Amino acid sequence: MRQVAPVDPTGDDRLTIVVPAFNEAESLPALHRELIGVAREIKAEYRLSIDVIYVDDGSRDGTLDAARALASEDIGLQIVSFSRNFGKEAALLAGLDFARPGAVLFMDADGQHAPDLVKQLVSGWRRDRFDVVYTYKAHREGEPALRRAFTALFYRLLNYDARQPIPEDAGDFRLLSPRAADALRQMPERNRFFKGLSSWIGFRQRGIAYEPRERIAGATKWNFFQLLGLSIEGLTAFSIAPLRVASLLGVLLAATALAFGGFILLESLLKGVSVPGYPSVIVGLMVIGGVQLIMIGVMGEYIAKALSELKGRPAYFVAEHIVRGEGEAAAEPPAQEPRTKEQRAAE
Ligand code: UDP
Ligand code: MG
Repeated sequence: MRQVAPVDPTGDDRLTIVVPAFNEAESLPALHRELIGVAREIKAEYRLSIDVIYVDDGSRDGTLDAARALASEDIGLQIVSFSRNFGKEAALLAGLDFARPGAVLFMDADGQHAPDLVKQLVSGWRRDRFDVVYTYKAHREGEPALRRAFTALFYRLLNYDARQPIPEDAGDFRLLSPRAADALRQMPERNRFFKGLSSWIGFRQRGIAYEPRERIAGATKWNFFQLLGLSIEGLTAFSIAPLRVASLLGVLLAATALAFGGFILLESLLKGVSVPGYPSVIVGLMVIGGVQLIMIGVMGEYIAKALSELKGRPAYFVAEHIVRGEGEAAAEPPAQEPRTKEQRAAE
């Protein structure tokens, strides 16, 4: 068993801002300028040292070059470039791995997460002593009704029977105190669902409502099927509700069939009615077949998850790692390779 490591006391005055970027070359310079401005204010107000980590998630445009050209005055700057596109969750994990001890803040590279809000998040941590300061969309009025319905259903299933419900509409834009970041690092799984994990760890949590801004440039990377995939990922990582629903459905069907069978039996015994066979048999067959397929699919999701955890593959590979600015001298050699399960267990 791994021991829970004591929180590094030196991490208390450092904030690392992790920015996953996939094809965001056009947004990066503008975002960085804003971030530097905010960083100066925070430094002055809270006496924090600030690192920014850009995780280039295998971008195919000039994101890496744009990141290389960024100024690192007043801040420590790290650029972690993946060997290919591994997805946002992997990029967030890399940021967490490469961050030096201290608080960690996650925000998008496209400018939708307003750097101004960073100050509010930091104040929630420094002044009000919250460990997880997350943001949630103030409203979803602009979104299509179908998408809203899916979202509502998703959170209902996700929080079914949960001891620590995951707040609805919360996003990845959030700050974790040093001990919360440390707790998150100890999560062994590689199929990650960050919002869920950072709620699951507990501690003192606070939500802040916000209005996402317009993207600086480019378009969203998610289409319907990717969102559906992420939802299934989150659901199977945090809830066994789908398995429950499957079993309940099975019981319900069996009960209905039994009742129907009894009814037919009585009818033919007492009234001598012969039941028309063909349609009822086909309907029964199709219902049972369909439900069985769904159940197998649901079970398959969980088996696939177990298999991928078992394989224990690293969540990402780093092709290039650049350290600049204030962190340069102080940066201990970061774990170039993501930790393996054995290494994590040994820690
Ligand atoms: N992103 C990433 N890897 C991916 C897809 C997205 O690192 O495979 C980053 C992206 O660069 C952005 C953030 O994740 O900084 C959110 O992506 P996006 O803006 O497309 O999502 P949305 O805001 O529409 O939810
Ligand atoms: Mg976005």
